[in-house]
Amino acid sequence: MNLPYFTHPQTWDVIVAGGGTAGAIAGIAAARAGARVLVIEALGSLGGTGTNAWVTPLMRNVSAGENLNRGLTDESKARLLARGDGAVDPNGNDNWFNPEGMKFVLEQMLLEVGGEVLYHTHVVEPVMADDVDGRWLMVDGKDTAHRVPLTAPHPFPQATGHKTQAIHSLVIHNKGGLQALKAAVFIDATGDADVAARAGVPFHAGDEDGIHQAMSLRFTLAGVDTARLCAFLNANGQGQTGEHFLHFWMVWGKNSTLEPLFREAVESGVLLERDGDYFQGFSVPGRPGEISFNCPRIRPDLHDGADPWQLSAAQVDGREAIDRLTAFCRASLPGCETAFIGVVAPMVGVRESRRIVGDYTLTLADILDCARFPDVICRNHYPVDIHSVKGGARLLHERDGTAPYFAKDAYHEIPFRAIVPVGISNLLVPGRAASSTFEAQSAIRVQQNCHSMGEAAGIAAAWAAREHDGRVRDVGTDALQTELRRLGGNI
Ligand SMILES: Cc1cc2nc3c(=O)[nH]c(=O)nc-3n(C[C@H](O)[C@H](O)[C@H](O)COP(=O)(O)OP(=O)(O)OC[C@H]3O[C@@H](n4cnc5c(N)ncnc54)[C@H](O)[C@@H]3O)c2cc1C
Repeated sequence: MNLPYFTHPQTWDVIVAGGGTAGAIAGIAAARAGARVLVIEALGSLGGTGTNAWVTPLMRNVSAGENLNRGLTDESKARLLARGDGAVDPNGNDNWFNPEGMKFVLEQMLLEVGGEVLYHTHVVEPVMADDVDGRWLMVDGKDTAHRVPLTAPHPFPQATGHKTQAIHSLVIHNKGGLQALKAAVFIDATGDADVAARAGVPFHAGDEDGIHQAMSLRFTLAGVDTARLCAFLNANGQGQTGEHFLHFWMVWGKNSTLEPLFREAVESGVLLERDGDYFQGFSVPGRPGEISFNCPRIRPDLHDGADPWQLSAAQVDGREAIDRLTAFCRASLPGCETAFIGVVAPMVGVRESRRIVGDYTLTLADILDCARFPDVICRNHYPVDIHSVKGGARLLHERDGTAPYFAKDAYHEIPFRAIVPVGISNLLVPGRAASSTFEAQSAIRVQQNCHSMGEAAGIAAAWAAREHDGRVRDVGTDALQTELRRLGGNI
């Protein structure tokens, strides 16, 4: 079937597909670097998983007591604080934020520097430069053509010198129908590498068995008496720094003091066994009396966030579990007796789906050995953190060991090449779909690293558009690092 589309007359320097955690920051960075930028976003606000999947707080990424992600991350935190949507706890942790506030902050940062945004629009398919005159051919949309088995030798050890193709435009779909939008450089920040995969970039997906990390549907309970909840948690072995910075959890078999309450609830039919696979609650700045939950986990057979049928079923499965967890909290957690559901995240939280094959693929060994790279764009000390759907290995959260990475002042680096997909000259892929193995992705995927990758991608894209006819590999990484440092980057 051939579907006609109309090509928009305008050309942008940089088009960002997906205005999420990495994409919003990439758009802001590119616009500040002087590019004419358009951010295309499927939903009606920026921030992606951090806002629309309600993933709060930012996970700490610290080495020797210092935040490793600075630059635009710091600026967004300062703006959140100023509007009462951010907070610093008594331990100096400045990562608490209100996702609804973050939507405003990111939008203001993009628009005030002249960036444009197109909401409620899906990026459907790239049009390759070699194929501009052709009509977009809709084929069976299965991903398998470019999927690379993890056990196969890396097909593109170094893409430099490989024949590359360029993307001419992106076909989008919205209330206006199908249109193609042109740019010199594209940033695929869809999280699922939608653009890269459709452009033919090979990718990995899941672990050695093709099984992905668990998805979750996050929610909040409002109307909580947090003073009473705090007192209960303090009295029950989950020490709190105060009622405004609550953090509590339960995972079967991990010695949580809340486990007996969960066991009782399962036995009385309030909860299912799997509701205790992962349960975690946090306070949210600017929203007194509200707790944000990093759960429920979605049914293990629904683990592929790039499969639209699984994603839809996950939303339903998650909502059912939210009803169960709400009943549990009301019945078993003092302070929650009259709580009600405040938010059910509009986006299912997808931890891992496609991971592109880039000019460099970050590995677990790179992390454990604290690898350094000449083209570093980001430093990470967040641990390997796999939310596995496989029985027996439900949670792997490595913080201790003998590898160099477990020292307090350790970190590894993420190279620019990890966001440069093989085979395409004018595309960058920052965020959770960056080139990495399953284990390495579980460490680098946290939001602040996505910000840092996005910031580097935005600047590089702007420079590639202005000075290199769109070729991202021609951007000098020494100059990029100098610029990132000038903007506060900790690299
Ligand atoms: C349940 C869960 C808990 C987590 N916990 C934490 C935590 O506590 N702290 C932390 O720091 N990190 C946490 N993470 C990790 C982190 O939140 C994500 O890895 C990160 O936000 C991903 O950023 P991204 O930019 O790659 O993708 P996203 O932020 O998901 O951005 C992708 C954007 O692209 C849009 N989009 C997708 N496809 C298209 C398309 N075809 N066309 C147009 N738009 C499109 C989406 O709507 C979205 O806005 C968690 C993740 C999950 C899922």
